[in-house]
Amino acid sequence: MGGPVTQAVTILGATGSIGTSALDVIERHPDRYRAHALTAHSNVEALADLAQRIRPDVVVIGDPALEDRLRSAMRARGARAEVAAGARALVEVAGAPEADAVLAAIVGAAGLMPTLAAAEAGKRLMLANKEAVVCAGALLMAAVRRGGATLLPVDSEHNAIHQCLAGVRAVERDGARLVLTASGGPFRDRRDLDSVTPQEACAHPNWVMGRKISVDSATLMNKGLEVIEASWLFGIPVERIEVVIHPQSVVHSMVEFPDGSVLAQMGTPDMRTPLAYALAWPERIASGAQRLDFARLGGLTFEAPDHRRFPCLGFAFDALRHGRGASAVLNAANEVAVQAFLEGRLRFTDIAPTIERVLESYDPPEPAGIDEVLEIDRRARGHAANALALRA
Ligand code: NDP
Repeated sequence: MGGPVTQAVTILGATGSIGTSALDVIERHPDRYRAHALTAHSNVEALADLAQRIRPDVVVIGDPALEDRLRSAMRARGARAEVAAGARALVEVAGAPEADAVLAAIVGAAGLMPTLAAAEAGKRLMLANKEAVVCAGALLMAAVRRGGATLLPVDSEHNAIHQCLAGVRAVERDGARLVLTASGGPFRDRRDLDSVTPQEACAHPNWVMGRKISVDSATLMNKGLEVIEASWLFGIPVERIEVVIHPQSVVHSMVEFPDGSVLAQMGTPDMRTPLAYALAWPERIASGAQRLDFARLGGLTFEAPDHRRFPCLGFAFDALRHGRGASAVLNAANEVAVQAFLEGRLRFTDIAPTIERVLESYDPPEPAGIDEVLEIDRRARGHAANALALRA
């Protein structure tokens, strides 16, 4: 009897928070996993470091202007891997036959096309890039079915729900309710939100994450995007999805069944747990995460979200109810507003009104294909830029 078959893994967004955590898990299991391709957008030095340490077959830099710099950084380190650059190269590497599994961990709608390519190519698709689902949920799920991909959610809430639904037949799943937990972010108890700085917004109490998702967690938009993501991934309508604030981030989400049973998945807040699950499913492997020590846990508390102070959560529920292109508009407006906040051009408390203005001013029809999604994304960004200019 031999050991496990080695899987070739491609990591889209390898230099990010999720990409780095995934590599940590992969490096613990060299008999099971090897890297086929690693990608980044502009962080040439970090990608070259990874090429030297991980020794993938291919590295791709999203910004084509940086290809030469990447080549020299690789030469300087004696790192050998095929080098490619640009948006098309990202799509090609996502669907390349050499990889068995693809981790979609690019941040934002920029990850949409490579994620779709991995779905069409029938990969084990480990999905962290929630914005891709929010922009194009129907198209992504159709691509997964057409390509025969195995979709494994990495977002800890959706990963928890996937675990709670394991072995549940479709007919029982149809009656289930999803309860997504939210930490409440760094400002759950803070009264004065006008003066919030990007640094404060990025200091999450329980999770270490990239800057965009950290701000989304602080506005609760992250939970809103996750509500939309959950509806698409599990085929559950908006009326059967609920959000509850759970500051300890120990219960990662729950599923309630018609008989009153509620299943929860728990663990320490460490993204290596859902990443290890997605890599090994249906097997289980060590992730490096600390064990949950119940004796030291103290209490687990739950409370309703405060929609008045954090209106972004409600915008997401409304966009999901409204349908048409509203989720793609919401996502684009949020990306523009968050970027402006991170660059010091917008106050924290102006993020939600900016998004609301875009949602009110642009109501596109249901996108029939990916070109329409990209067009909605482009136009919503234009509306958001106008809304920012008006605020300025
Ligand atoms: P980071 O900002 O830490 O990393 C983003 C990665 O995407 C980097 O590798 C970055 O490259 C790359 N990237 C950025 N822009 C582009 C672009 N235009 N084209 C190609 N690549 C790009 O983000 P996170 O790791 O925090 O998040 C990644 C995704 O996972 C997000 O969708 C997030 O919502 C989701 N997620 C994250 C969690 C977390 O704990 N961090 C938890 C659950 C979900 P470069 O380094 O060169 O900029």
